[in-house]
Amino acid sequence: MIGTDVLVIGAGLAGLTLSHHLVDHGAHVTLIEKSGAPGGRLSTRRSDFGSFDHGAQYLTGRTPAFTALINHLAQDGDIAAWKPRGKDSARPWWVGQPGMSTIGKVLARDLGPRFGVRATGISCRDGRCDVQVEHSDGTQTHFSARRVVAAIPAPQALELLGSLDPVFTALEKVRMAPCWTAMLAFETPLGDEVQDLIRGHDGDALALIARNGSKPGRSGETFVLHAAPDWSRARLGSDRESVASAMLDALRAQTGLGADLPVPVHVDLHRWLHALVETPLDRPFIGNADNTLFACGDWCLEARAEAAHQSGLALADHIISL
Ligand SMILES: Cc1cc2nc3c(=O)[nH]c(=O)nc-3n(C[C@H](O)[C@H](O)[C@H](O)COP(=O)(O)OP(=O)(O)OC[C@H]3O[C@@H](n4cnc5c(N)ncnc54)[C@H](O)[C@@H]3O)c2cc1C
Repeated sequence: MIGTDVLVIGAGLAGLTLSHHLVDHGAHVTLIEKSGAPGGRLSTRRSDFGSFDHGAQYLTGRTPAFTALINHLAQDGDIAAWKPRGKDSARPWWVGQPGMSTIGKVLARDLGPRFGVRATGISCRDGRCDVQVEHSDGTQTHFSARRVVAAIPAPQALELLGSLDPVFTALEKVRMAPCWTAMLAFETPLGDEVQDLIRGHDGDALALIARNGSKPGRSGETFVLHAAPDWSRARLGSDRESVASAMLDALRAQTGLGADLPVPVHVDLHRWLHALVETPLDRPFIGNADNTLFACGDWCLEARAEAAHQSGLALADHIISL
């Protein structure tokens, strides 16, 4: 059993931000992550036809703390400005270099997260908590910690914490939308009449069409398509082939290319079960009265990466103040 001050579950932007801030203030933090890499929904998938940012497309900074992080990452060349044709905001848009996953990798560098470790259960007694984990090889162990933070999407946090303290039933009101994502590569360029960024309108199957190859540091005629929340929800259990085919049909319609859309040389899909926050908790984090169990993440505030940063930071400040 490994003992620690704070066990943080989830190495997405919220968990990474929280862990950094706590470590900077002298806490002994253990960060566990079920997947093989940090960053969570700030993610990049590689292929023989180029890389695809299949989660968050870009970062924007509004709060001073997140703007400072953006400036720091930009100075080090870990992010760069993206100015797609079709950009519909005056705010700068920032993308990881060479992919969005770089952001998580940079933030995780000094934290030594343990990858391939999934929290499966928690029990608390006499001011200490025991977190059961399963490693990617199937073995199971425990971590013992004074405080445990679930920096994971609300429905998953509810599963882990819901039965431990009634305070966490508040997570039941949080709604997160799924998102079917398609990653496409074309040998033939689609042409300049197709903008680098196209947003869908009400009723469209695709909420967003992004020319991934137009981001700085990328190459190739690659696209990421994000299906709309209701469209994705209605097809959660559909087979991948029919989803890919329907998303290609929607691309033909929403670009106006119709039958002129070339056949893609690469098609990959990802199904995000908890992609975008629809109903947030409306407070920056949640915790129990004896300050042993907490949860944080974008879903506390809104559907943007900056909200994950704000949530992680606010919870770190709270824990430091105890
Ligand atoms: C399709 C899509 C498009 C988006 N577009 C944008 C955009 O353009 N701009 C923007 O600002 N934001 C965008 N977002 C939102 C942004 O990605 C999120 O707000 C942000 O990344 C959330 O960070 P987080 O740390 O709260 O959660 P996550 O990134 O989800 O991190 C949670 C981590 O916890 C891990 N985990 C879960 N359960 C366990 C467990 N039991 N044990 C161990 N580890 C666990 C997960 O593997 C994950 O790494 C988008 C998201 C998606 C999916």
